[in-house]
Amino acid sequence: MIDLIKECSAAQNIGISGHIRPDGDCIGSTLSLCLYLRKVFPEKRVDLFLEPYAEAFQDVEGIDAIDHSFQGADHYDVYFCVDCGKDRLGDAEALFDAAEKTINIDHHISNKNGCGDVNYVEPEASSASELVFDLLDPGYIDAKIAAAIYMGIVHDTGIFQYSSTSPKTMRIAAQLMEYGFDFSQLIDKTFNEKTYHQDQIMGRALLESILFMDGRCIFSAIDHKTMEFYDVCGKDMEGIVSRLRETKGVECAIFMYEYEPLTYKVSLRSCGKVDVAKVAAIFGGGGHVRAAGCTINGTVHDVINNLSVHIEKQLEG
Ligand code: 5GP
Ligand code: MN
Repeated sequence: MIDLIKECSAAQNIGISGHIRPDGDCIGSTLSLCLYLRKVFPEKRVDLFLEPYAEAFQDVEGIDAIDHSFQGADHYDVYFCVDCGKDRLGDAEALFDAAEKTINIDHHISNKNGCGDVNYVEPEASSASELVFDLLDPGYIDAKIAAAIYMGIVHDTGIFQYSSTSPKTMRIAAQLMEYGFDFSQLIDKTFNEKTYHQDQIMGRALLESILFMDGRCIFSAIDHKTMEFYDVCGKDMEGIVSRLRETKGVECAIFMYEYEPLTYKVSLRSCGKVDVAKVAAIFGGGGHVRAAGCTINGTVHDVINNLSVHIEKQLEG
């Protein structure tokens, strides 16, 4: 466990970042850490740099703390990398590398050794937000900080349902509720609610999904033209792969979208038999046993051919 207050007490400038294409846990963990450090150390500069987030998060309390410029202080005394290893920090990687002291808080098995001078990496944890909670002095937590952590946990556990949800996760959620925030609205606004365009693209992806390997695998792909037609980007397609995974009989689901010509962002989900973090790692990606991702060049068929060899090996092994 890290003593956050001790690690930061000598610093003047503190930076925080999470992974590219930030999701709910990435936003919740970094935002709660930022709000907390600003409260504990009002005299210090605490910057939070993340790439633009989905519209669904725009009403989250304190979200204005997030800066998309990646232009901060000349130098950071402490820099936090949260919810990923430094290879997924995007523009923040240079800030992290240049910092005096680096701290990594993560729960990805693919980053189990950590990338900081100081590391708190627990692959068993439901979310990076849960790990941030571990490190906070409860005396400084308020409704805003609690809501951000709660949101992160909700997103990475699929509202407390994925197998990464532990009794500890539930106890933390219960403690957070005591701070008093509208958890029901937070879940609806940031997790459940979809725009009309998101509904349309989900429908299209499900309609065109294909079962293979005797129904044990399913995939769906959205090319760039289709993304333009429905006016959606990657952030709008979160949730599709989880829905595919819930198809009866399916062990492993693949969803991909073409974010550059012949370059696919691939999301993998498993019911537990296939370790998709291992599959993603073969293609330079990573993640968790049941949820992972990577980027692969080629046509849809190339991508499926490449992935299915490794998935089939595990299903038969
Ligand atoms: P998603 O499919 O929702 O984008 O990601 C599933 C999980 O895999 C998340 O925990 C995410 O952080 C991780 N992940 C997704 N893409 C990549 C990638 O390209 N590299 C690594 N290391 N992890 C990824
Ligand atoms: Mn996470």
